[in-house]
Amino acid sequence: MSVKFRQLHLMSRPKGMPTLENFEMRTIEVGAPGPGEVLVRNRWMSVDPYMRPRMIGMEDSYIPPFNLGEAMDGTAVGEVIESADPAFEPGDLVLSIMGWREAFVVPAGQLEKICCPSGIGEQAYLGVLGMPGLTAYSGLLQLGQPTPGETVFVSGAAGAVGSYVCQIAKIKDLKVVASVGSDEKCAWVLDHGADHAINYKAVPSLLEAVRTAAPQGIDIYFDNVGAEHLEVALATANQFARFVECGMIATYNDVGRRPGPYNIMNIVLKSIRMEGFINSTLAERTPGLKEAFLRDMPQWIFEGRIKWEETVVDGIENALDGFLQLFTGGNMGKMLVKIV
Ligand code: NDP
Repeated sequence: MSVKFRQLHLMSRPKGMPTLENFEMRTIEVGAPGPGEVLVRNRWMSVDPYMRPRMIGMEDSYIPPFNLGEAMDGTAVGEVIESADPAFEPGDLVLSIMGWREAFVVPAGQLEKICCPSGIGEQAYLGVLGMPGLTAYSGLLQLGQPTPGETVFVSGAAGAVGSYVCQIAKIKDLKVVASVGSDEKCAWVLDHGADHAINYKAVPSLLEAVRTAAPQGIDIYFDNVGAEHLEVALATANQFARFVECGMIATYNDVGRRPGPYNIMNIVLKSIRMEGFINSTLAERTPGLKEAFLRDMPQWIFEGRIKWEETVVDGIENALDGFLQLFTGGNMGKMLVKIV
């Protein structure tokens, strides 16, 4: 069988917020899979903030930049259409890194078969049961080293990673102060783990808002945002606080030099331990961490202690719009693209 499908190519490196001109949709035709290959039609693809730095290519990054003129990639869930490998058969659901396209042919070794627990949509493998879920779990528990009763400040708290962090923190008996970009998001996080929610776009001073929500200071900062949020966390941190440096989305569209926090000296004054991480490498260097995630997360879901939101855009033609909404706060929970 041969299939015609669309895929999105990066044509120029965006300066600031990406625009449609930086990309091109192309129609490709692939033939039947050769021996050991599998033809997959994507059903869902993930759009993630880390893709933005890959569009420019950052020095010393853990992941290579997207090549100009080539189709981009990212995690996706698809269905096997035709298989020339005994490990897969038509109808199998598979996880791949072949996002940003409607269909593809790859060697079978590049696919991971998934089976969905009842009541959990297959797209959960791009969110709560996948990379963002592992990021929240491993960052908070392995690097945050929480003790019951401590206070955690979570930025980007209504997004995918942030919303899981708030709920895991509550399971671990932490007090949760959440920062989000709308009143609707405040209401949602207050229902899902947060003790205090701050709409950082509406308060006159984020610093005062955090001081009010956490007069006892913060013991853990889970950083999804960087910039002012990081400065506020440094200002409100207690002695021996742990800073889990997960991401700094507020800076991803910046060009040129990024200013550092003006009050970085607090790391010394307060004996703060600040540690950045990449979910996959943290899991690789921590024996048993991924296994613990794969044990705990489905259990918490089953017990109703972890819930999640999804924001879905339809069609590969709207994938870029979905991606850009990550930077304007258009998503609540995991941002997904439904391909078919
Ligand atoms: P989200 O689902 O959290 O989406 C991004 C959210 O960030 C938006 O909804 C928006 O929410 C918020 N945001 C965007 N711009 C700003 C800004 N200037 N200031 C404050 N908030 C902003 O994405 P993910 O959950 O996928 O990722 C969250 C963070 O985690 C990112 O920094 C990402 O790079 C990082 N990450 C790191 C990983 C790792 O291994 N280290 C793995 C996965 C993600 P709002 O309306 O609240 O502004």
